[in-house]
Amino acid sequence: MKPLDTDVRYIKGVGEAKAKLLARLEIHTLADLVRYFPRAYEDRTVFLRIGELMPGENACVVAMVAAAPRLTHIRKGLDIVRFKAVDETGALEITYFNQSYRKDAFQPGQSYAFYGKVEGSGQRKTMANPQCEPEERIGAVTGRIVPIYPLTAGLNQRSLTAFIRQGLDECGSLMPEALPESVRRQYQLCDVAFAYENIHFPKDEGSLEIARRRLIFEELFVLSAAMGRLRRAVTEKTGKRLDPACLEAFYSALPYHLTGAQRRAIEEAMGDMSSGRVMSRLIQGDVGSGKTAVAAACCFVAAKSGYQAAFMAPTEILARQHYQSLGQMLEPLGLRFELLTGSMTAKQRREAKERIALGMADVVVGTHALISEAVAFDRLALVVTDEQHRFGVAQRAALTEKGESPHVLVMSATPIPRTLALIIYGELDVSIIDEMPPGRQTIDTFAVAESMRPRINNFIRKLVSEGRQVYVVCPMVEENDALGGDVKSAQEHAKELEQTFPDLRVGLVHGKMKPKAKQEVMAAFVAGQLDILVATTVIEVGVDVPNAVLMVVENADRFGLSQLHQLRGRVGRGKHKSYCVLFEGGGGETARARLKVMCQTNDGFKISEQDLELRGPGDFFGSRQHGLPQVQLAGAMSNMEVLKLAQQAAGEVLERDPTLSLPENKKLADQIEVLFSKSENSFN
Ligand code: ADP
Ligand code: MG
Repeated sequence: MKPLDTDVRYIKGVGEAKAKLLARLEIHTLADLVRYFPRAYEDRTVFLRIGELMPGENACVVAMVAAAPRLTHIRKGLDIVRFKAVDETGALEITYFNQSYRKDAFQPGQSYAFYGKVEGSGQRKTMANPQCEPEERIGAVTGRIVPIYPLTAGLNQRSLTAFIRQGLDECGSLMPEALPESVRRQYQLCDVAFAYENIHFPKDEGSLEIARRRLIFEELFVLSAAMGRLRRAVTEKTGKRLDPACLEAFYSALPYHLTGAQRRAIEEAMGDMSSGRVMSRLIQGDVGSGKTAVAAACCFVAAKSGYQAAFMAPTEILARQHYQSLGQMLEPLGLRFELLTGSMTAKQRREAKERIALGMADVVVGTHALISEAVAFDRLALVVTDEQHRFGVAQRAALTEKGESPHVLVMSATPIPRTLALIIYGELDVSIIDEMPPGRQTIDTFAVAESMRPRINNFIRKLVSEGRQVYVVCPMVEENDALGGDVKSAQEHAKELEQTFPDLRVGLVHGKMKPKAKQEVMAAFVAGQLDILVATTVIEVGVDVPNAVLMVVENADRFGLSQLHQLRGRVGRGKHKSYCVLFEGGGGETARARLKVMCQTNDGFKISEQDLELRGPGDFFGSRQHGLPQVQLAGAMSNMEVLKLAQQAAGEVLERDPTLSLPENKKLADQIEVLFSKSENSFN
């Protein structure tokens, strides 16, 4: 037995080089090894007869080596070991390429188990480079369910599996049991050692299911309990009392009438901020529903009550946009604004911080530099964060723990079904803006097959000739084999579009570009100097280009519906009729059914409920869009059952032991601590 934090180099076969590769998978210690979960499994428990083997399929077979293997030297760099193996139903030809040691590894007359892809046809069946073991030692690579791990270049399945096996042997039984005994009994969950053993090397299908259920339950249970704790910490805080009496001035300065939903949200926020408790409120509303005005009202009241407000946006671009639009709205009412972002020069930042510290700024707009750079406010009373799902729970916890205990207002345009909102925004009260400002157009949406491309291209040309602009969004930056060659990469696609439209101005922006380069391209698009902007999902969050009227999404089946809805919200922001075209990609029937939902409604809440129903919550947890600490297994979850039970269990535990100070909850408290200390950066 070795302690969990033992360096991974302790494992036999892991030296400096392998340790570096493992580090790329974020495996540094023995515990990390044990927590590195398979992405899939291969069921090799069924053995076929040679006569039953189907070409094209992977299979296990036990066969006797008929004659001594022959080694043939074809040319430099190509050796082949070849032999015949038989059972009573037929013969199988086995070849190994460039593994000349195999020549002496097989005894004629002895039986071996082979696992590999069957090739050939009719009577002549072959297997190339099969995994194998002697019949009397079946159970390592055949005759069992075998884990398949995500790899990195230079590390193969066989060695990673061996490392994990060793890791489990060294410390599998030391893994912390975050589930209190009572919870395990009540919800019939296996113990932690069994779970880790069987998630990696399942005895059988049933054991794998038991292990998975337990580990998913644990992830969600810890998360729910953490949220419960955070909520308690928040509700116990006293907050600065702000006075909303000045709001009339704000209302009458607005160029429009607020919608009923906006007014309601503002009133709810005012109720909090004038109560003497700390506000901790989430404003959820579809893109374009006017959340900014709600935040502006809160900033205004904070400033007029003699305090400062901080307004945080997840990206540089958004911070600048908010700085401008909020400034336009509130400077005429006497508020002083300051911008603070990572791309400003050190001198600019220092001067801005000085003004903030001296109380010369009422509202500070910025990126998360605002939290990370320890900005000293003079009298901070309110922190607004926009598009919250990009800020992690850890950052939220950090904010709550700040000495000033400011009021917290969080705005999100990602509609989250009620059941999930509890787990993600567990510590927040929720206001929902379910009404659009008048005159807002619906965006006509079409899901189309590849055969429609020429017509869509004509449509792009027509819109551009009318002076409009077009977004084209692709799933990822580079061609990536893991997802198949048909996935449009933004770079490739931009090139194609340049060829299709040699006379149009095509720009490209993606997450791997330097922030400055990104900003320049975006600025060019905003200024109308580009006709088509090809992008990855970096444009998903609130950029406003009213002249953009068409959103084309390539391989739309790769996106979650809520994400597509967000993307669609980038158009329809001006007076022109707007459209969204979703190329179906290769997703098949379910993908088509999902995309149809997009064509039928513009209501983000309906869409997210549908998405949850069609795909289960796993997608959501898997997407890393939520700002939660990484949940690993829950990403594969296909129904809500475990989530509900885990929430219920966490609620019960906190009910009995609100501060988690009973001995049986000690490990849980530790895990929550770990969760909040991991400062996840999920910006892209
Ligand atoms: P989001 O909720 O996506 O942040 P914004 O706050 O950016 O939405 O608002 C979108 C647009 O709608 C802005 O141009 C804003 O000026 C405008 N707007 C907001 N509220 C109203 C309203 N009640 N009536 C008319 N226009 C409004
Ligand atoms: Mg917004």
